[in-house]
Amino acid sequence: MNNLTPGPLARWLTGPRFSALPAPAALPAPRLSFEFFPPKTDKLEEQLWACIRRLEPLGPRFVSVTYGAGGSTQERTHATVARLVSETSLTPAAHLTCVGATRDEVDEVARRYWAAGVRHIVALRGDPPAGAAEYVPHPGGYAQAEDLVRGLKRIGDFEISVGAYPETHPAALSADADLDFLKRKIDAGATRAITQYFFDAEVFLRFIDRCHAKGINVPIVPGILPVSNFQQVVKFSAMCGASVPAWMGQLFEGLEEDAETRRMVAAVVAAEQVRLLQANGVDEFHFYTLNRPDLTYAIAHILGARPRKA
Ligand SMILES: Cc1cc2nc3c(=O)[nH]c(=O)nc-3n(C[C@H](O)[C@H](O)[C@H](O)COP(=O)(O)OP(=O)(O)OC[C@H]3O[C@@H](n4cnc5c(N)ncnc54)[C@H](O)[C@@H]3O)c2cc1C
Repeated sequence: MNNLTPGPLARWLTGPRFSALPAPAALPAPRLSFEFFPPKTDKLEEQLWACIRRLEPLGPRFVSVTYGAGGSTQERTHATVARLVSETSLTPAAHLTCVGATRDEVDEVARRYWAAGVRHIVALRGDPPAGAAEYVPHPGGYAQAEDLVRGLKRIGDFEISVGAYPETHPAALSADADLDFLKRKIDAGATRAITQYFFDAEVFLRFIDRCHAKGINVPIVPGILPVSNFQQVVKFSAMCGASVPAWMGQLFEGLEEDAETRRMVAAVVAAEQVRLLQANGVDEFHFYTLNRPDLTYAIAHILGARPRKA
């Protein structure tokens, strides 16, 4: 062995290792939130409620339900949120978007939420409806999330979370202009930003630095996507501007037909991501559960979350 190549012991002592990160028990308990989508069929409804019941004992700060364009999807969001209020100990947050509705219609939805006891809204612009190339505000509607935040605050003293983009929203003129938009949503009354998912912890930590430099001081909560279907994530990421690192492609390579191994790999990828964030001072995490509890539960457990005794 020559002097330039470290021997096994030198490599072991100086090399990176997972267990060198502080043990979760030495850190503050993580604050969690879980995102669900409203089910379209009875079977999916069952799956959603099994997921909710499995994650409920972890005592999340809130659980949120996404909102799609179109009447029936919106009714499903409302029904899911209403059931969360009446049948669980959880605090729901309803997503609401500006797409395809006048201000009066959106305000009416918000009033219904307020009347149902919902006090937290995730206020979003929304994506263009299927088939439309770009977002066009509805005539007479809220143009973008900032306007929606202002409108909601006129209706009730909602707690409002908004979206944020560590790798910049695809429609943004520049990364800096994107941060200006985020700042405007905060100045309009939002008190938390939840990020688009990302896979490299560094991407998020750099983003937080840039937010602080802009004077954005509300909590910026990382959106964690446990990957169960890698090919789908690659497709979706191309649309929403999240990058998929090459190392992830290598980890999932050859597992297209092997869902079980994929899930194990996904758990390792997400566990390392959240532990790196946690070791760097992040103590709040939002999980895109995709209505499947297992990966989220395992990763929350690794972060130090434990079920509350009934
Ligand atoms: C946590 C989270 C949850 C989500 N949940 C849902 C959901 O339930 N339903 C759904 O349909 N979508 C959802 N989305 C997706 C979201 O609707 C899209 O990302 C949408 O394209 C932008 O929404 P926004 O609220 O961030 O928009 P905004 O903050 O209004 O705009 C986003 C960015 O677009 C650019 N932009 C906007 N308007 C202009 C303008 N006039 N001129 C120049 N640039 C402009 C800016 O860079 C701005 O930062 C979610 C996203 C996140 C991060």
